[in-house]
Amino acid sequence: MTTRTQILVRGIVQGVGFRPFIHTQAQRHVVKGRVYNDAAGVVIDLEGDSKSIAGLFEEIILRPPPLAVIDKVECRVGLPAANYEDFQILESVVEGAKAVPISVDVATCADCLRELFSPSDRRFRYPFINCTNCGPRFTIVEGVPYDRQRTSMRDFEMCPSCRREYENPWDRRFHAEPIGCSNCGPVLELVDAQGNKFNPRSGEDLISCAQRLLREGKILAVKGLGGFHLVCDALNHEAVNRLRERKYRQAKPFALMAASLAVVRRLAVVSAEEEALLQSVQRPIVLLEKRPDAGLPVTLAPGAKTFGFMLPYTPLHYLLLENRSGPLVMTSGNVSDEPICFENSEAARRLPGIADVFLRHNRRITIRTDDSVARVQAGRVQLLRRSRGYAPAPLRLGFRAAKEILACGAELKNTFCLVRDEWAYLSHHIGDLENLETLDSFTNGISHFQKLFDLHPEVVAYDLHPDYLSTKYALSVEDIPGKVGIQHHHAHIASCLADNRAEGEVIGVAMDGLGWGADGKIWGGEFLVADFIQAERVGHLAYLPLPGGTQAIKEPWRMAAMYLWQAYGDEFLNLNLPFFGQVDRASLKTLQKMAAAGVNCPETSSMGRLFDAVSALLGLKLKVTYEGQAAIELETLAAADDSVGYRFEIDGTGVIHAGPVIQNLVGDLIDEIPASRIAARFHVAVAQLILEMAVDIRDRQKLKRVALSGGVFQNGLLLKLVSRRLADAGFELLAHSRVPAGDGGIALGQAAIANALLAAGRI
Ligand code: ZN
Ligand code: ZN
Ligand code: FE
Repeated sequence: MTTRTQILVRGIVQGVGFRPFIHTQAQRHVVKGRVYNDAAGVVIDLEGDSKSIAGLFEEIILRPPPLAVIDKVECRVGLPAANYEDFQILESVVEGAKAVPISVDVATCADCLRELFSPSDRRFRYPFINCTNCGPRFTIVEGVPYDRQRTSMRDFEMCPSCRREYENPWDRRFHAEPIGCSNCGPVLELVDAQGNKFNPRSGEDLISCAQRLLREGKILAVKGLGGFHLVCDALNHEAVNRLRERKYRQAKPFALMAASLAVVRRLAVVSAEEEALLQSVQRPIVLLEKRPDAGLPVTLAPGAKTFGFMLPYTPLHYLLLENRSGPLVMTSGNVSDEPICFENSEAARRLPGIADVFLRHNRRITIRTDDSVARVQAGRVQLLRRSRGYAPAPLRLGFRAAKEILACGAELKNTFCLVRDEWAYLSHHIGDLENLETLDSFTNGISHFQKLFDLHPEVVAYDLHPDYLSTKYALSVEDIPGKVGIQHHHAHIASCLADNRAEGEVIGVAMDGLGWGADGKIWGGEFLVADFIQAERVGHLAYLPLPGGTQAIKEPWRMAAMYLWQAYGDEFLNLNLPFFGQVDRASLKTLQKMAAAGVNCPETSSMGRLFDAVSALLGLKLKVTYEGQAAIELETLAAADDSVGYRFEIDGTGVIHAGPVIQNLVGDLIDEIPASRIAARFHVAVAQLILEMAVDIRDRQKLKRVALSGGVFQNGLLLKLVSRRLADAGFELLAHSRVPAGDGGIALGQAAIANALLAAGRI
């Protein structure tokens, strides 16, 4: 019997080949009707026998196009007959279509890859091949609705062959907006540092020329999806060192790209989950444990026990890595702390001192987007930097937003977040908001998101730190009436709740480098009882002077001296510790005087700084060149043995004293216990502290869920030790997964809190 049914599919279903997919399925299942995009997704209007319709429905649910993210499917059954005579794809009903999510950038699909390397294909070795299942999206979009005229592909006029594919509903490139070929699409060019055309040798094309230059140890700037990479042969020590010098990047690990999984496996330990993550369409940089016999230069990732690996994600990468048995360094195209270059002119201005040769193209990148960084922890994917491949896909919330809200995030590793209805539009990684260029990325990013998703926030949330540029921005925007400041560590815990789509009160453990406290001091080792509305501070590391403010962050030995001073008083100068040999006595005395007088010594309860101090006590890192470096080296050093830990002392008011930890640690140093065991004992001490505090809070407050957030929990060893203890003690654990535990996740928490305050009528 013939019936008529409408299926409404919501989620990321536009620009991902959904309509051609339905068209194909309609022929297979012999149903007639129409398919079109509407404001919220795709509408499929079907007429046929109910069994056929059910069959097509099953295809949608079980085998949707690879890039589609189906959020909701609604069916309207028993509609009056329309007597369709065929099945057609209708032009979109674009009215209000701005609510439809824009797809993320997607790694080259298997079909395109096959064509790329088939001599008979008309796109053989074309470095910009793509289709509806893959290719650039977010990084080429200028406006909405998503079509070619609103992407940077509007610079290229389609040739007749491309147009035929673009207009044919049976073709894999039907409405693939970035479609192109060597006759009509973007082209590569190779130029030297002065911007002059670089001539390949006879017999070479641009790709083989670039490959040769890499073999010769040259540094190339290669334009990718979201910006330029600086690229060199990872096996060439001199090239790697030269890149470090020129980029002013002393120690921060370089990301690597390998031609295939087989290459990665030879150099790092890869689990099944890590394999899947490496091969996912998002293609993040995945942190993998180094193989001891890998034979890669130590300088690629000094002091870390992991390498950051990714697999190729654009046709250009595949061509560049073809036949290459070793990895390439693929680090962001910038000088030290500046944002990555994404425009040809900008790269030509800023990178000549670093790159010898530029391999670039003329497809404009509309928004600067860094690579994402992820790892697998206890079988779960954790994003450490959520950017290309993930942003701007909205995150489903566990609540419905009362109003549209903008949250401005923190200062370091900034992201911002906009929420509407049940969705959070968390931005790509913006970077450290410490210079004008990054601030521009931040403000441009906010307006770009507002335009793409048609968002008009009525409330803006910001960090309480008065000096953050994100805070100053929030206070200065005139067209958003509601403003709300949110405490940094409360935001961390709320972010963890929102990440897990949880709500209600939890025991919140927020540990990081620093965040502005409710009392104006610098917090970072905090135990909170918190929900989306409020956070009560029930415990924290005892305050300690942060001598010289930010100088103490760059020089962990200062924190080591402060912890010694706290544990031993002025007597600490008489100790004979290994690291004293690396600092002159006069500096230690000056520091002690500064602290005693309280000059230029803000007080801090930061756990990140305690990790720094321990790292310096062990003589590991007296000075660091990037945030978290000391803690990473401490984690790397720690032996697997975790039987005995040091003990913190917790007083009746929940203030935690590290004195006993420091004293026992110093005792071990004097007894010449191996540093690897000392590092392990310290990690165990922190894990044990978190367990004890959690048990105490559970007993008093009847809470059994613990949320862990803040940059300290990017320490995989600590997270493992804590998780095991909490699980054994019967706690329910909330950790981060979809958003970073560090400050890259703060904006989501700010938005969640602002929303709860709104709903409660408190804004
Ligand atoms: Zn493809
Ligand atoms: Zn063409
Ligand atoms: Fe933080």
